[in-house]
Amino acid sequence: MTTSTASALELHDVSHAYDKVRAVDHVSLHVNEGEVICLLGPSGCGKSTILRLAAGLETLQQGRVVMQGQTIADGAARQSVPPERRGVGLVFQDFALFPHLSVARNIGFGLTELDAAGRDKRIAEVLDQVDMADYATAFPHALSGGQQQRIALARALAPQPAVLLLDEPFSGLDARLREQIRDETLHVLKRSRTATLMVTHDPEEAMFMADRIY
Ligand code: ADP
Repeated sequence: MTTSTASALELHDVSHAYDKVRAVDHVSLHVNEGEVICLLGPSGCGKSTILRLAAGLETLQQGRVVMQGQTIADGAARQSVPPERRGVGLVFQDFALFPHLSVARNIGFGLTELDAAGRDKRIAEVLDQVDMADYATAFPHALSGGQQQRIALARALAPQPAVLLLDEPFSGLDARLREQIRDETLHVLKRSRTATLMVTHDPEEAMFMADRIY
């Protein structure tokens, strides 16, 4: 199969079973640089499993995962690059912020390759990107749901991941906030041109966010 240089993430003929449950059945997809792609479907159809396989949180049983032209997991060869070396950013439904760390330290957590000055600079940049520059010293419990979502996004973007993986990132927000945060998030993703694979069960959300829908 040919690999386009503009492709950030590819899944080739990926299948996955939990015991007897076939969660993913021969799925192929690709996300190009700068694209926002949605996986849309009802609960239980295997969307999160696809995201977890792309992230390396689940061991690949069958098929191949390719990032920026490099095979990072091969089911047949039983080879796999660990999650922390894949260059993926993750945002989950519950945001998963560290409650005992300030906003700045939450964002700085994954920036291990930078020195202290570089880390501070990058933290300031991403806080600015999500319009939260005044909240560096705040703690997660003092933030609204929408603000926590923005910090989770900032933390995922901080290491400049090759691919951002979002698992139902807005479903923890109340209906009033959801549209606004969705809109803001799309702006941030498009401005940073981060290749994004997002899971949702909400067709309207997929239509709003996605360049393409699977
Ligand atoms: P979705 O994200 O579309 O809701 P999932 O990928 O979470 O779907 O789940 C797909 C199927 O796999 C479901 O039937 C689910 O119950 C099953 N499943 C998911 N995770 C596990 C697991 N860790 N162990 C066993 N079964 C699982």
